[in-house]
Amino acid sequence: DQDVKSVVSVSFDDVYQRGRKLGLGAFAVVFVGTHRPTGAEYAVKQIDRSTMVWGDRDALQDEIANLKLAREGPNIVQLYEVYEERAFCYLIMELMEGGELLEYIIEKKTFTETEARITTSCVLKALSYMHERRVAHRDIKPENLLLSQHKDLKSIKLADFSFAMYVKKRNECRTLCGTPGYLAPEMLERFPAYDVKCDVWSAGCLLFLLIGGYLPFDDEDDEVIFDLTRDGYFEFQPEFFSGVSTGAKELITRMLTVNAKKRISSSNALKCDWIVNGDAEVEERQ
Ligand code: ADP
Ligand code: MG
Repeated sequence: DQDVKSVVSVSFDDVYQRGRKLGLGAFAVVFVGTHRPTGAEYAVKQIDRSTMVWGDRDALQDEIANLKLAREGPNIVQLYEVYEERAFCYLIMELMEGGELLEYIIEKKTFTETEARITTSCVLKALSYMHERRVAHRDIKPENLLLSQHKDLKSIKLADFSFAMYVKKRNECRTLCGTPGYLAPEMLERFPAYDVKCDVWSAGCLLFLLIGGYLPFDDEDDEVIFDLTRDGYFEFQPEFFSGVSTGAKELITRMLTVNAKKRISSSNALKCDWIVNGDAEVEERQ
């Protein structure tokens, strides 16, 4: 890849000034980095290589490779530079000033159908670009969707490619990863074999959450969540869904279809009536 520079000759701290912390993960800390020569601000994901076992190191190379592959796509966080040093690896990314979608959901509680549609089409645009290139994200959830600007849902981009995987053949992924509540049923099989469609399921959970204010498969106990997910059993509780259009419910149902082969694809979801003509429908109902 010609565009993403891999820097080995100078050290990260010579070029960037460390600023406020943005987030914390298992192997990574994310903070603001100011590019000393220009004063421009970026988000820097600092990944600790020293605590990694070999499998994780491969995973790090995958994360970089998949982020490079996806970065040309719409609604995907940009990667600009990679610094590889002995103890740490630094990913220099576009700074998403608006924070996590999760924080905005907590602030707003529920979204209108129009807001949910804007959010979902951002997610589906990113996914259909990735899925066309056979990359599964595998951890779609509101913590990994970031806003360029606060409250601007059109500015949502997909981040965190640490679980992303290139699916060479159909049904190639086998490892269990992701987050309970958003996990596709085929990932819970004893010998899972799944492909990019797992992301559509997670995006369906997210759409349900945005409109209803609660997750379709939820419990204090993860095992119960997994049982509900395997059965694909969820309800549009009338208290939260009575005013919701059939188009929205239909799309959710097609995204939360247990049989992955019958589940709608990200590109077809993007073309569905509720996404394309949703606003007209809302106006009609008023
Ligand atoms: P992990 O793999 O540890 O979950 P993420 O890549 O999801 O790491 O980053 C952790 C958190 O850091 C994110 O949930 C977000 O709050 C923040 N973050 C990550 N990337 C950016 C970015 N480009 N701009 C702003 N904040 C970011
Ligand atoms: Mg994350």
